[in-house]
Amino acid sequence: MDMFPNEDACLEYLSMVRWPDGYSCLRCKSQAYWKKARGLFCCRDCGYECSVKAGTIFQDTHKPLRLWFQAIWYVVNQKNGVSAIGLQKALGLGSYHTAWEWLHKLRRAMVRPDRDRLSGLVEMDETFIGGEHSGKRGRGAEGKTLVLIAAEETPKGIGRIRLAPIVDASGETLKEATLQMVKPGSIIRTDGWDAYNTLTNHGYVHTPTSHRNAESGDATPLAHRVAALLKRWWLGTHQGAISPEYLAYYLDEFTFRFNRRTSRSRGKLFYRLIQQAIEISPIPAKILTTTSSR
Ligand SMILES: [Zn+2]
Repeated sequence: MDMFPNEDACLEYLSMVRWPDGYSCLRCKSQAYWKKARGLFCCRDCGYECSVKAGTIFQDTHKPLRLWFQAIWYVVNQKNGVSAIGLQKALGLGSYHTAWEWLHKLRRAMVRPDRDRLSGLVEMDETFIGGEHSGKRGRGAEGKTLVLIAAEETPKGIGRIRLAPIVDASGETLKEATLQMVKPGSIIRTDGWDAYNTLTNHGYVHTPTSHRNAESGDATPLAHRVAALLKRWWLGTHQGAISPEYLAYYLDEFTFRFNRRTSRSRGKLFYRLIQQAIEISPIPAKILTTTSSR
């Protein structure tokens, strides 16, 4: 907050992140402009005005950008994830709903599906989230959501991960989800569940290992470690209270944090989240509450 003493400092930062090579007019491409109040850039050649917030998730906000920055700083600094109540308390927000809405908007900026696909040797497995009893594989179970886990293997252990809720563990579902999460050409290690065999038709190398044949007795230890952390986060930070239609976004938040867990620079994370928040389109609040499509 010392770095951003007022609203102008936040707007200045936002314009630097949004236009790192300097502003050029969105209409005539001229680089001659003057700045007006409240982050407005005005073209000297054609007169076109553009707000640094326009077309970003900050577009329709009535709250100060400084408060948003505070929220983002809080979000990137919580090792175990953030709940709306936690954010509301940390920022002293009067409304729980505002905290809830901001977190949902930020979660949508956390994973860029096209850019963040895994590669190399990737372990895959499914796990159930929610409910009290374990379900049968390949089928849903009451109150539970099946989550597909993909974890890169590195010499040090787990590299990056991707997570996605899936409707079942059928070949078709696993194929669709894998195409979103892992680059074709990668090697996929699984515990030998038949449905993964279809991946070989889509450019992947599938190396099934049964638990019995695995050295440690565990065919997919990396994916299992991620599943354990996921369950702890789900029960701890969110007390098991994430409704299924929003789970995908919560998983994106978990993924964002996990994939940057070794990053020592919180400032870089802050920059990254703001950069991604600028890249995605504004999200009207009513979309947050009425649909779950992504
Ligand atoms: Zn212009």
